[in-house]
Amino acid sequence: MDTETKIIGRCPVCGGNVVKTCKGYRCENNTGEDGKCGLFINGVIGNRKMADAEVAELLEKRSILLDGFATKEWKTFPTVLVMAADGSINMESVVAHCPRCGGEIRVGAKAFNCSNYRQEGSPCDFVIWRNIAGHLMTLDEVREICADGVTSHEVEMFGENGSVYRRKLGLSPDKLKVIKV
Ligand SMILES: [Zn+2]
Ligand SMILES: [Zn+2]
Repeated sequence: MDTETKIIGRCPVCGGNVVKTCKGYRCENNTGEDGKCGLFINGVIGNRKMADAEVAELLEKRSILLDGFATKEWKTFPTVLVMAADGSINMESVVAHCPRCGGEIRVGAKAFNCSNYRQEGSPCDFVIWRNIAGHLMTLDEVREICADGVTSHEVEMFGENGSVYRRKLGLSPDKLKVIKV
């Protein structure tokens, strides 16, 4: 009998094929022998089932922002899965540094918020909504705005009447929010 495998992507550790298995996603060179590649991605991470396309993006970009992870108490949360050089995966909620106060920008259900929003004396209200006029902000775009003040490209947005328009997004002059520039 011929065996078939479903190739999901390329292993960022050794360059081999990553195939789908009953338990998750394994590098074809992950044979359990010492010195071979150890890459294995669980099919369920944080009580959330991974989709093939999500694993493919994680393998290609080394990070992916996803919603729907759940705590033991089934409280859902978004996070960024980040693949380390050895192929292990960590959850990271911090995606950038605040352009206003230097605090940590964390991903939340509706927005990327500054970690200093409750700081006594000088709370920071900086926020980037995850959905801006119908455009879902990507990690790259959030990082560009925080580091450079503006996205490197125009994004597609939508008016109330269904019109489509493209603009760059950048910091407002007071660095409190994101505006179309
Ligand atoms: Zn590998
Ligand atoms: Zn801040």
